[in-house]
Amino acid sequence: MADYIDSWYARGLGDDHHYPALAGAQDADVCVVGGGLAGLTTALELVERGRSVIVLEAHRVGWGASGRNGGFVSAGYACGMGAVVDRVGLDHARELYQLSVEAREAVRSRIERFGIPCGPVTPGILKASLAEDPADGMAREQAQLMERFGAARTLISAEQLRSVLATKRYGAGLLDEKAFHQHSLNFTRGIAAAVVAAGGRIAEQSPAVRFERDGTSHIVHTAAGSVRAGAVVLAASGYIGWLYPKLSAAIVPVATYVMTTPPLGDRLARTIKVPYGISDTRFCNDYYRPLSDTRLMWGGRVSSSQPSPERIGRMLHRDMLTVYPQLADVPVEVAWGGTMGYARHKMPLIGTFGDGIWYATAFGGHGMAQTSIGGAVIGRAIAEGDDRYKLFAPWGLAFAGGSFAKPIAQLVYWGHKARDAWRARAAA
Ligand SMILES: Cc1cc2nc3c(=O)[nH]c(=O)nc-3n(C[C@H](O)[C@H](O)[C@H](O)COP(=O)(O)OP(=O)(O)OC[C@H]3O[C@@H](n4cnc5c(N)ncnc54)[C@H](O)[C@@H]3O)c2cc1C
Repeated sequence: MADYIDSWYARGLGDDHHYPALAGAQDADVCVVGGGLAGLTTALELVERGRSVIVLEAHRVGWGASGRNGGFVSAGYACGMGAVVDRVGLDHARELYQLSVEAREAVRSRIERFGIPCGPVTPGILKASLAEDPADGMAREQAQLMERFGAARTLISAEQLRSVLATKRYGAGLLDEKAFHQHSLNFTRGIAAAVVAAGGRIAEQSPAVRFERDGTSHIVHTAAGSVRAGAVVLAASGYIGWLYPKLSAAIVPVATYVMTTPPLGDRLARTIKVPYGISDTRFCNDYYRPLSDTRLMWGGRVSSSQPSPERIGRMLHRDMLTVYPQLADVPVEVAWGGTMGYARHKMPLIGTFGDGIWYATAFGGHGMAQTSIGGAVIGRAIAEGDDRYKLFAPWGLAFAGGSFAKPIAQLVYWGHKARDAWRARAAA
């Protein structure tokens, strides 16, 4: 079982407290499997409502996607709000959007309430269309978000963009001033500390390996112990493997990559004159942000494989130069990959099998805030009978390819890449 992988986040770890592994037979009201943000926020909601909770984490809290991502915290869902409206209609979509806004604000307020050292918390996420995209796309999206969800975005013209970003890559931008970016691993560890401060227990280096039913209880086994609980929450996301086949079959593990440069000093502000997190509109997009230590964090690509850090660094460096060729001489300081869980429909999997087994998982590339939705609705469903988790029922556990999930994900990625290339050629 592993410690944190090498990353900018792990190099900036606030504290290095280890939680002891599970030993012997333990009891709790709820056993949570997975110590990422989905599992930890669920545990937090439960302990704050007086339930006893044990979180089992295979490695260390935040070892998975939660501790190695781009750090962007925003409302909405990975599939886009248009797809949500198409599926369930506007009223239902509005309730879901509101949940995502509450989740974003829960992240912000927990940082303040628990004094989590994951700052600076930098406001602003800018989504930029590529120069070849139709010029009115962003304006349409801005109008639709306001009209349907009351969500304000600032439209930024190509000219304005070029005055703040030293690139001709983009056509227009939409700025979400309420979204923000921060240090994901320290945030996740801060939520773990809050769970323990409120009376919850966390066991690291304790992968769940087997489930047993004993009357109305579930027993979750690890190599060195077990937890008897009335309810179990599955939150292992892209790392679930075949732990729970009914759920595993609905999750596609999708790899994506991040790197950081060394400190760039004034050169960073000459290249990117705004403090925002920036991404483009493609599915396999670039996402990057200036860090307060004058490094540039650059993320991108989706794939089914996890190459070596050196190879990830080379790929992302090439991507960075397609946008900022003037950074050709800037080396990669550290590069890493992580795995996101996606459902086929790209909405989170939030629900129950109806026998005391619950799931809050598959948040895709939007989990920084949306894991707080999973935590809130599943935690409150177990503790208080809240039924808002049913808002996610229309999407369900769609079969995601089983053993073929990875090759299918790779084919979908190649399909997206080919479409992006075709779009660029058509516009040239
Ligand atoms: C490189 C990258 C960049 C991203 N960028 C962003 C971004 O900028 N903004 C955003 O909103 N989202 C982003 N995401 C997505 C976001 O990080 C995830 O959606 C979110 O962290 C998922 O949280 P989780 O708790 O569901 O899963 P994870 O954080 O992956 O946690 C799952 C945990 O379960 C544990 N586990 C697995 N099996 C077992 C077992 N048998 N027993 C016990 N524990 C087990 C794992 O060790 C892991 O720690 C990114 C993801 C990646 C990988």
